[in-house]
Amino acid sequence: MRSLADCHTNSKDTGELEPLNRRGVEIVENGLTLQSEDEERPLILIVDDDRAIRNMLVTVMHNQGYRVVTAVNGLEALQVYKERKPDMVLLDAIMPMMDGFDCCLELQRLQGSDRTPVLMITGLEDNDSVDRAFEVGAVDYVTKPIHWAVLRQRVRRLLEQARLYRELEAANQELRRLAFLDGLTRVANRRGFDQTLARHWHELAQSGAYLSLILCDVDCFKRYNDTYGHQAGDRCLQEIARTLRQAASYPTDFVARYGGEEFAVILPRTEAAAALYVAQKIRMGVRHLAIAHESSTVSPFVTLSLGVATMVPYPGTSETEAIAAADKALYQAKQAGRDRAILKILN
Ligand SMILES: [Mg+2]
Repeated sequence: MRSLADCHTNSKDTGELEPLNRRGVEIVENGLTLQSEDEERPLILIVDDDRAIRNMLVTVMHNQGYRVVTAVNGLEALQVYKERKPDMVLLDAIMPMMDGFDCCLELQRLQGSDRTPVLMITGLEDNDSVDRAFEVGAVDYVTKPIHWAVLRQRVRRLLEQARLYRELEAANQELRRLAFLDGLTRVANRRGFDQTLARHWHELAQSGAYLSLILCDVDCFKRYNDTYGHQAGDRCLQEIARTLRQAASYPTDFVARYGGEEFAVILPRTEAAAALYVAQKIRMGVRHLAIAHESSTVSPFVTLSLGVATMVPYPGTSETEAIAAADKALYQAKQAGRDRAILKILN
């Protein structure tokens, strides 16, 4: 009982665990219907077959400001876990039906990439239990009889770690996304292009399907920048990128900024005629933007030259062949007077 005083429990209640529990559960259930601020408090799943211990755990966690749900064995715990997705699990090792070790193993499987910390509650000086707890994926343990101050600190630390881990994961994901994105035009950058083309080349080499690639270049873009300034040049590239995305609208189409004023479109499983159609759609789309370009040698408006290459990637060949072919076609389009698309079909 002295240990309960340790966890801010009203001393009047210490000998009456059942009333405490009833009150506790009531608060939990009220908590479910309360404001969102309340929903943000961590939810702890307490699993123990011993009612007295369960009640004490509920009280202690409540007094720490956490929301609580309970289960009386491993099977029930799995059910509650699936329904409520708690932020942490306090799991008794020895229980009927399904014990804490089996339950913990099953929880790891259920969680997938989530990492809900499991704190195992084992018998005192039971080395086997401690070893097994870590083997089945528990991140820490406390022993019975429970030292409440220790438990409180461990729960707080594990919740904090889990929160930091989630934040880190989210930040990493955002970094990965940004690493492949062109900051100005919001389409993929060169790195994204290289990686995606290599992946498609490799995949299609297995299946013998067509791969098409479009490389396009804004005509007389240096003159555009010289005439209208670099900020206008940036806006022009942004509008062109948007047009490319609209024209290459298949889920597998991939638009990237290849270099300064050069863009690339990867069209997996796309035959020559379809690729040329997309290229013409892009060219017309940019014309329809009607961005004035008074110093262009081609047109009073901004135009694109496009090189299209279509081929079946064969095993043992490299995606640089696609780039070389599209680049050659683009060069020919420029030589022929710009504002046009030229198609090259290989093999
Ligand atoms: Mg037990």
